[in-house]
Amino acid sequence: MNNCEIVKDLLPMYIDGLCSPTSNTLVEQHLSTCKQCKQIHAQMLKEFEVEQVEVNKIAIQQKQPFEKMNHIFKSYRGFSKILEWMTVLTVVITIILIGKGFIDTKDLANDFKHQEKIEQEQQNIMKAAFENLAGEGTSGLQKVSTDYQNQIKYIAAFSTTGLEPLSADYSKPKVIYPLPYEKAKATYENGQLITEKITPTDYDIGTMAMEKDGYIVQFEYTRHYLNEVEKAFQTKHYSPNNIQLWMPALIAMLVTLCLYFLYSGIKNTNRKAQKLIA
Ligand SMILES: [Zn+2]
Repeated sequence: MNNCEIVKDLLPMYIDGLCSPTSNTLVEQHLSTCKQCKQIHAQMLKEFEVEQVEVNKIAIQQKQPFEKMNHIFKSYRGFSKILEWMTVLTVVITIILIGKGFIDTKDLANDFKHQEKIEQEQQNIMKAAFENLAGEGTSGLQKVSTDYQNQIKYIAAFSTTGLEPLSADYSKPKVIYPLPYEKAKATYENGQLITEKITPTDYDIGTMAMEKDGYIVQFEYTRHYLNEVEKAFQTKHYSPNNIQLWMPALIAMLVTLCLYFLYSGIKNTNRKAQKLIA
């Protein structure tokens, strides 16, 4: 076998770059001296290059759809990551709002207890006043004035005959625009009979009146007790109901569920599609 034969055998490997350095040297030395082999090499090289271009083209064509899919998956993954974090966040918010719901419900129950206590106290004061009036006349209010001096400032008894007829139902303690104290048969403050002229301290919810047995009893709350009366008034008329208290937690829970289903839906689709590709 002459050198030409050997080099021809080696050329394909040489072009593919698979020869050992020794073989490379041998091939190169021979190509520089042998015109025929040099031509063969040039021809083979041309064919090889054309082949490479074809191979690359096919590779690119095959890769393209996968790259597109991968791109879509990447953006899906990013989206599902965001959804995951949003779900976690809404879970935390839901837990906080549920906690708040429990606290608010408990507070509201306490507020109603307080409101009932205040109302009961109104009734107790009136009950004591009418009992003492029946027993001792107007001087009987002195004891009530002393006993409830934390709650009431003035307490007065009027005769129903001396006043214009009351238009509303006064069979229970009722908030009233104060009757003029100078028309009262007797007015007491801290157990003392008051004779000087009195300016009523509150026109809003601070004065209560009730009518019974020919008497009208009127009392005013003390300044500091009025705060509690106001609180009770707010509770009675403006308290939210339980549905309103729990609404924020409910909404947060629904949002959490929606986010979770969206998140798990996207995750499942992703998983199935990736299985298909694999
Ligand atoms: Zn040769």
